[in-house]
Amino acid sequence: MTITGTTQLLGIIGDPVAHSLSPVMHNAALAELGVDYAYVPFPVQAENLAAAVQGLAAVGVQGFSITIPHKQAILPLLATVTPEAQAVGAVNTVWRTEQGWAGTNTDVAGFMVPLQGRDWSAARAVVLGNGGAARAVVAGCGKLGLTKVQVVGRNLGKLAEFEASWADSPLTPPLSVHGWDELPQLLPQADLVINTTPIGMHHTADQTPLDAADLALIPDHGLVYDLIYTPRPTRLLTLATARGLSTQDGLDMLVQQGAIALEQWIHRPVPVDTMRRALVAWLDRTA
Ligand code: NAP
Repeated sequence: MTITGTTQLLGIIGDPVAHSLSPVMHNAALAELGVDYAYVPFPVQAENLAAAVQGLAAVGVQGFSITIPHKQAILPLLATVTPEAQAVGAVNTVWRTEQGWAGTNTDVAGFMVPLQGRDWSAARAVVLGNGGAARAVVAGCGKLGLTKVQVVGRNLGKLAEFEASWADSPLTPPLSVHGWDELPQLLPQADLVINTTPIGMHHTADQTPLDAADLALIPDHGLVYDLIYTPRPTRLLTLATARGLSTQDGLDMLVQQGAIALEQWIHRPVPVDTMRRALVAWLDRTA
């Protein structure tokens, strides 16, 4: 890719941003398309967020991604926010409009893509964890029309706050919150079990949020979806496969949320497979 006087800028703001996989994924797609854009990391500390967002507008940046710690703090700085992002309470993608910056949360649709093509309208989900990713998962389950979403957490105070935060949301599926000790009652009715905790991620790769005995309780048609994308497969998904259950890892969600953002910025279909290959090559190199 050659950067010239006409190159349009996209990027990501966060603190830190050095670990972000987004530049790898987006620049691979932009290079393949041969379009005159570059995607760059912008380290922005919390106290500089408003100035940075104004500055990005002033220098003509076309759109940007947002990572920790700005996903919530950016909301009041945007002219418009999609219902998905409002429901989740966090924005990960921003683009330029005549009124100012518009924001959405592409994790919701990214989470949903691997689940599309199946009727989930009579289905129940058990969601492990109640952090940021769980919010996108709950909104996605709502959009897919699930009948019941049961969120499992270890901190009852945070669980109660989580439940209350969905009270006025149009995207809320019927939701209940539970301690981990309730899993033996929840799993036998679960059609979909989603891990949104970091248990099993690289440095805890030998751990799993559910063991073989837990997985034995899930109905035979159940799907186990682990949002973790490294290692692939996680211990959870290895055990689920051994149990005969369908599985889904987090790589598709990661790629799809990026692809949806890139399409929003450059207004054309993007090469999802190229993005996936670039990401896998990078993850393999840095594992
Ligand atoms: P987060 O906001 O920190 O939430 C993590 C949740 O897991 C919290 O509810 C936390 O409980 C719970 N948790 C953490 N350690 C636990 C343990 N040992 N036992 C029980 N519960 C535990 O993190 P996040 O942003 O939601 O990310 C969570 C995971 O999803 C990460 O692995 C991340 O890589 C993955 N993710 C993947 C994608 C994708 O595109 N595939 C997108 C987003 C996130 P407390 O609140 O009680 O601490």
